[in-house]
Amino acid sequence: MALRTILTHPHPVLREKAVKISEFDSTLHQLAKDMAETMYEAQGVGLAGNQIGVARQIAVIDISAQEDEKKYIVLINPVISEGEGCESGKEGCLSVVEYDAKVERFKKIRVTAQDAKGKPLDFIAEDRFARIIQHEVDHLHGTLFIDRISRLKQDMYKRKMKKILEKK
Ligand SMILES: [Zn+2]
Repeated sequence: MALRTILTHPHPVLREKAVKISEFDSTLHQLAKDMAETMYEAQGVGLAGNQIGVARQIAVIDISAQEDEKKYIVLINPVISEGEGCESGKEGCLSVVEYDAKVERFKKIRVTAQDAKGKPLDFIAEDRFARIIQHEVDHLHGTLFIDRISRLKQDMYKRKMKKILEKK
């Protein structure tokens, strides 16, 4: 296993549309394992391919019930096929440094995807789990949570970002 480098905004790969995956081979399994390891190392709850510079439709999502657990699912080619309800909740992102904001998301979603072996998945997710999936699917479309906040907050973030970059 190997840790991958998490790329941060404004890296251009975060804006790429991830390509659909059609080969479910050992390279993909290794990628999924590396992504999970990288996610846990960074204390994240989800990680999408783009974030490590692999613009392919893969995301890993933590589903641990307890803090010391490391249980996750791998979603390949995930699609949010249905969504209902609306809920505002705080989000952060391993690729957006030193910032979090409230984002509106569907409360309940239906997800179709494949697992790492190519087996079709079709399930319902709610609340926090649904939020993480929506956040990761966004990544695969080149969207960041900061695109979903108000213009005013976006401007505040840009100013903060400028200061951070100036310090470097
Ligand atoms: Zn993110």
